[in-house]
Amino acid sequence: MTVKVRFAPSPTGPLHIGGARSALFNYLYARRNDGVFIVRSEDTDLERSSRESEHNILEALRWLGIHWDEGIEVGGDNGPYRQTERLDLYNKYTEKLLEQGTAYYCYCSEEELEAERQMLIAKGETPRYLGRCRNLAGEERRKFEEDGRKPVVRFRVPEGQRIIIPDLVRGEVVFESDGIGDFVIVKSDGIPVYNYAVVIDDTTMAVTHVIRGEEHLSNTPRQILIYEALGLNKPEFAHISLILNTEGRKMSKRDGDTAVIDYQKKGYLPEAVVNFIVLMGWAPPGEQEIFTIDELCANFSLDRVSKSPAVFDINKLNWINSHYIKQASLERLVELTLPYLQEEGLFKKEQLSEEEYRWISTFVETIAEKLDYLAQAKGYIHYVHGEELPELEEEAKEILKEEQVPALLELFKDKIKSEDTLTVDVAKSILKQVGKELKLSGKQIFMPVRIALTGQVHGPDLYRIITLLGRENALKRLDKTISML
Ligand code: GLU
Repeated sequence: MTVKVRFAPSPTGPLHIGGARSALFNYLYARRNDGVFIVRSEDTDLERSSRESEHNILEALRWLGIHWDEGIEVGGDNGPYRQTERLDLYNKYTEKLLEQGTAYYCYCSEEELEAERQMLIAKGETPRYLGRCRNLAGEERRKFEEDGRKPVVRFRVPEGQRIIIPDLVRGEVVFESDGIGDFVIVKSDGIPVYNYAVVIDDTTMAVTHVIRGEEHLSNTPRQILIYEALGLNKPEFAHISLILNTEGRKMSKRDGDTAVIDYQKKGYLPEAVVNFIVLMGWAPPGEQEIFTIDELCANFSLDRVSKSPAVFDINKLNWINSHYIKQASLERLVELTLPYLQEEGLFKKEQLSEEEYRWISTFVETIAEKLDYLAQAKGYIHYVHGEELPELEEEAKEILKEEQVPALLELFKDKIKSEDTLTVDVAKSILKQVGKELKLSGKQIFMPVRIALTGQVHGPDLYRIITLLGRENALKRLDKTISML
């Protein structure tokens, strides 16, 4: 039997890290098993769903390198792939359930349901529907209809049943039907609810494995009851653990960025995000932690997915991302970094001159190994661009008091003045000559020159800094430092 898995986001916002992980695990599982990966949309929340969100989610998946074989935009034999376009299909199944008596119309008003809820809470019981409309006589139904009440359709939950979920990650999970209460499957506006529509979708699309977040585990018994009532084959289930923050609480917006697009915007590379996400739940077989998506497709398996919670550790993501930045081609890094420079008002033109391109390449090459993510490039601009000397660090002020500094900076300045262009080689030879003439060691030279040019004690390669600054800016900055001595 062909493995078929799916990702079924609700298009009510951007793709979050948790959703991306579900999508990724399904994708990898499909690839590993020569299966089919479906992407469809659970858009029955009419108020909160939008095509824009759907589009953004699909874009984020593509950015991550997650591609689907069947579903929205790519089509397939089991469409349409948006729930709001499948209402006729759900209606057919609803008719069957109503006919069988495993579902019934319920006319209870909001107020009546709320009163029942409060009553159960007051008694210390789990709020649930107690079944007032379970056995309405035809006469009673007609009366409600005449009163203009619009019914919902409720599923009749069997009493005293143990519902066993054989979960591929968590082992057997058992629920008791008695805690559930007859639940709504179709709302009064004719729109099915998630727990119902998802079953019809999974069954008609011949989904074999449902891999999704642990937050859906409590929905699964309801879905199993629906499969059973309709006499349908159940898929296998695998619920992947929650993602916690480093303090052990459920990851939330307060912990920082939760949407994939946030990471894209900051200049994380997609292969790093994928690599990071997969490690939140999947334990690789050996010591290796860096995996390309192709390696993951070849190695992923559900039996290495942990049932203990995953931890979102931004330091780990940064470590992985900096690894991939170091691996990336300079050309790619330049292209990805340019927008951050533009945000800071640099290189706004459509077409870069050769000289500008060279400058950016040197800039990116110089700082790349210092970056956790590319937006951090912005923080390095003022070291190497423009005539303004950045504010001196405290430690830097102390170093400038060393006795060799005035002569050193004057001589360095004179040497720069007599050069037209400061290439890395020129910068190297100037500093060498300065050392020779003044009989100073490398350490006595490099620190003060770095400080005189950037205000900082540490930073990227000094020769490159000199090149990036260029003659005029370097001279202006030197003058400023000399004037402070
Ligand atoms: N729409 C659900 C979600 O976004 C999908 C749940 C499922 O995969 O069954 O969480």
